[in-house]
Amino acid sequence: MRKILLFDIDGTILLTGGAGKRAMNRAFYDLFGIDNALEHVRLSGMTDHLIYKNACRQNDVPYTDEEHEVFRDTYLVYLREEIDKPHPEKRVLPGVEALLERLDGMPQAELGLLTGNYQQGAMTKLGHFGLDRYFSFGAYGDDSDDRDQLLPFAIKRFEARNGNASVNSESVWIIGDTPRDISCARPHGADVLAVATGNYSAEQLRSENPTALLPDLQNTEQVIAVLLGQSVATNKAEK
Ligand SMILES: [Mg+2]
Repeated sequence: MRKILLFDIDGTILLTGGAGKRAMNRAFYDLFGIDNALEHVRLSGMTDHLIYKNACRQNDVPYTDEEHEVFRDTYLVYLREEIDKPHPEKRVLPGVEALLERLDGMPQAELGLLTGNYQQGAMTKLGHFGLDRYFSFGAYGDDSDDRDQLLPFAIKRFEARNGNASVNSESVWIIGDTPRDISCARPHGADVLAVATGNYSAEQLRSENPTALLPDLQNTEQVIAVLLGQSVATNKAEK
């Protein structure tokens, strides 16, 4: 059966070495003259829109949609600068490139995104590493500030691209690194592969009951067996 595989970005596919946070801090400073506004704001698993809302709350700035739009546009400019800066923690996570390349060639796998990043920010981060070409649809932080609401946006976009073929959310996997990646699948009945390559340990992720849990995405055959079922490995062995 065909599977829709929706990948998170930060901590799952790649690490930016703090480029996103630096760019958000700069954008927030431009708007409000407040330095290091995101210092105490949680980022992992959050949507960009919600990060901005929380930064406003923590810094006693009233939230408005108009200022959020200015923040987003400024952030996206700064992100393109910050992602280009060298940083020891900036990298594609282990096994990801090989995995995407394999899945890209499989008719039974459809690669998409489910990320809290603004769409343009997602493409900036992926594009920096040459990985944007694998993803032609997804759900983004622009769609809703609530991660739990994102999955249907990705499905609708996939269906629209494929002649409105209808997709059952039970054929959907979310691949992510935080408890929020796990919980956002639940209202929609999708499966989750949790990976401990972000800020959460395997133990922390296990307690959220993902469908599957791996330390990382390094073992391509194992990941494919989890996401697409054992038949894939069998087919491959027969070739
Ligand atoms: Mg993440």
